[in-house]
Amino acid sequence: MTQSQSPKVGAAVWPEGYRTAVALAFDLDGPTGDAMLTGTIWDKPEYFSQGAYGPWRALDRILGLLKDHGLPATFFTPAWVVETWPQQCRRIVEQGHEIAHHGYMHEKYWDLTLADQRRVIETSQRIFREVLGTTAIGFRTPSGDWRPETPALLEEMGFHYSSSMRGDDRPYYHPGGKLIEIPARSDMDDYASLAFTTNPDWPSGGDRIASYELTLDNWTREFDGYHAEGLCLSTIFHPKVVGKPGRATLLDRWFQHMTEGEDVWFATSRDVASWWRQTETSHGNRGLGQ
Ligand SMILES: [Zn+2]
Repeated sequence: MTQSQSPKVGAAVWPEGYRTAVALAFDLDGPTGDAMLTGTIWDKPEYFSQGAYGPWRALDRILGLLKDHGLPATFFTPAWVVETWPQQCRRIVEQGHEIAHHGYMHEKYWDLTLADQRRVIETSQRIFREVLGTTAIGFRTPSGDWRPETPALLEEMGFHYSSSMRGDDRPYYHPGGKLIEIPARSDMDDYASLAFTTNPDWPSGGDRIASYELTLDNWTREFDGYHAEGLCLSTIFHPKVVGKPGRATLLDRWFQHMTEGEDVWFATSRDVASWWRQTETSHGNRGLGQ
C-alpha cells in the first residue's frame, strides 16, 4: 500500500493512534421504490423478489464475511424490512453490528411534510424496540435528500448522527446543532458500478455493469486515498447488490486489503459519532461554512 509519511493537513484525529476510520455501512433496503410506496409492487412478484433477495439471502453472506474479517458495520434498514424479516434482522444486532434508521418503507424524505417525517420515525422506532429491542440513533435518508428542517427534527427526536450528505470526507456538524454528519459518497455506492439495469436499454448489447476487477480497483484506490490522508471512509453498499455470490468475493478481497495494516479503525457509525462528539474541541472545524 502506498501512502504519505504522515497524515496531511485536515486529517482527523482517531482513537488510540489509528490513522484512518472506516465506517462500513450497508443499506438493507429490501423491496423499495415508487411501486413499494404506492403498493403496486404486490402486482409485480419479480420486482418484489429482487429486493427481497437482500434480507432473505444476501444478508447472511455479508454477515459471514464481516465475521471472518472481524469487522463491525452499520445496517441502515427500513422498519418494514425488520417487520418482514425479523429473524434475519435480529442476527445483525446479535452479531454486534449497529442497525439504524432508513425510513419505514424507504420513503423520500424531501417529499414528506415534517409531520409525516415524525410519524415515519416514531413508527420505525417502535418496531425497532419491539422486534430488535433497540432504538436507532443513526439516520440515513432513503432516496438521497431531505428538507432543510430535517436535521433539527432528527436532533429533537434523539438521533446522534446522520449519514446522508456528501460535503466532507470527515465527520462534521450540521449547522447550529449537535447532529453529526458522517458523509458517504456516491462513488462508494455499489449501485454505481454493480446494479444491472435495462433502463435505458441502449446501446444495444452494451455492458450494464462495470467489470468486477475495475470495481474492486476503484474501491481500493478510494480506501488508499482516505488512508493516506487520515480521513473517514463510509460506504453505501446494498446487500441485494453486492451480496451476490460473485460480487461478495470483491468485498472479501477489499476487506483483506484494508486489514493488512494495523492502523485502521473499523467502527460502527455510532462509535464514530460518539468519538467525534467526545473530542469535539480538538477538531477545530464544526463543519460546512462554520
Ligand atoms: Zn436505501
